[in-house]
Amino acid sequence: MAEKLAEFDVDLFVIGGGSGGVRAARIAAGYGARVMIAEEYRMGGTCVIRGCVPKKLFVIGSHIRHEIDDAAGFGWTIPQATFDWPTMIANKDKEIARLEGIYTTNAEKAGVRVVKARAVIEDAHTIRLGNGETVTAQTILIATGSAPNHGPAIPGIEHVISSNEAFHLPELPRRIVIQGGGYIALEFACIFAGFGSDVTVVYRGDNILRGFDEDVRTHVRAEMEMAGITILTGCTITGIDKRNNEYTSHLSNGSSIASNQVMFAIGRHPNVTGLGLEKAGVALNSRNGGVAVDNFSRTSVPNIYAIGDVTHRINLTPVAIREGHAFADTVFGKRTVEVDHTNIPTAVFSQPEVGTVGLTEEAARAKYSHVDIYKTAFRPIKSTMSGRDTRVLMKLVVDGRTDRMLGCHVVGDSAAEIIQAVAIAVKMKATKADFDATFALHPTAAEELVTMRTPTARHVREAAAE
Ligand SMILES: Cc1cc2nc3c(=O)[nH]c(=O)nc-3n(C[C@H](O)[C@H](O)[C@H](O)COP(=O)(O)OP(=O)(O)OC[C@H]3O[C@@H](n4cnc5c(N)ncnc54)[C@H](O)[C@@H]3O)c2cc1C
Repeated sequence: MAEKLAEFDVDLFVIGGGSGGVRAARIAAGYGARVMIAEEYRMGGTCVIRGCVPKKLFVIGSHIRHEIDDAAGFGWTIPQATFDWPTMIANKDKEIARLEGIYTTNAEKAGVRVVKARAVIEDAHTIRLGNGETVTAQTILIATGSAPNHGPAIPGIEHVISSNEAFHLPELPRRIVIQGGGYIALEFACIFAGFGSDVTVVYRGDNILRGFDEDVRTHVRAEMEMAGITILTGCTITGIDKRNNEYTSHLSNGSSIASNQVMFAIGRHPNVTGLGLEKAGVALNSRNGGVAVDNFSRTSVPNIYAIGDVTHRINLTPVAIREGHAFADTVFGKRTVEVDHTNIPTAVFSQPEVGTVGLTEEAARAKYSHVDIYKTAFRPIKSTMSGRDTRVLMKLVVDGRTDRMLGCHVVGDSAAEIIQAVAIAVKMKATKADFDATFALHPTAAEELVTMRTPTARHVREAAAE
């Protein structure tokens, strides 16, 4: 293979050192390919530098406040707890720098040449680096990820921060307004509220968490409101004024809110601009604006591939990693691997947390003629003594004809951890009978998933076309 490809400087050039790009580069190098990867910001990409990992550290940090509040019911006297934002930020930054180093060393150890520069495509086989160097490659992989999208340029938009800046604020905002109803907006709303900020969420739709199961949406909203977060739906921010360090957000419903920060988390756009895609003839997906790819992540140009957020399929780290791995197996490992994008477990690290896998009740009822629902909402054992007014939601969506488990949704402590394990069963096409045959693990909240005997609802659609 090396002889045949020697006309190019490298066998594979990867643009973007994030979750997907690094995995693809390492696996391809393991198959003997000569690989170069360019990263314009920091190795590790969104997930490690300003996404999942620092976010989870924030979630853990802010959740400690709940533990402190809950302690009294169990006999603890804790002196007035205080929180120091700069310490939290400094320790988080230290951990992120450590992980960034690991990403670089692991890529280099695998034989990948790492270049700290922006890369753009000159033609189907040529890359130009920020330092002026050009590199030719047999195969190019676009793994440039996505970036926050603030929407239309309303007056005062320059004052708005995104999740990128939220990780580096010099001080904890006393009051913050967050526009958005998706997982990033809600996670930050709960993070800031846990640390002690006064939080208002503004969302244009009629309820938060669009696309999630309706019961999950209602439950999370009620719990967040109970925790003191204000959620305003059916309106948007139309303009922002700044005076000294105070912001006033004007809303479409005519009201306004004062705060010390305004954050938008209303969506992300794939990083396709200024990449030279048009020069090489790489087509975009007209539906979502990402790079258009087939089931093997191949673009409209046969030797150029794209994976992860830049394709705007399902924007999650494990998906980018799986797509990157499958690409390397297929192109360099002589093993054709297609990624199955069904039954991907996902979480919202709001407080309480959401874990979900498979179909929502609404999606299942649209697709299947017979759908059984098993649902329970209960007070977790800890709340009986902590006094915290919170409820756990567990819901199973079952195909009434085949008994197959179509979806599982949990809201409550450790929901994400629970769903990771349940996802194996759902992926293996487990039936409700399999769940019933599984012993409960007592006393846990998750035991409810194997002890719900009677459907709470049965939906039958006689004329369904399946
Ligand atoms: C706040 C937040 C929280 C999140 N939480 C979760 C979570 O809990 N779980 C989860 O699964 N996912 C989460 N995600 C999503 C996850 O981070 C992304 O799906 C994942 O990082 C996508 O990986 P990627 O390789 O496609 O792109 P990225 O990780 O974004 O990597 C792309 C890299 O390419 C670089 N780059 C771009 N253009 C160029 C260029 N021209 N030249 C050189 N380098 C370039 C960028 O600097 C970046 O480092 C979160 C995202 C955000 C923003």
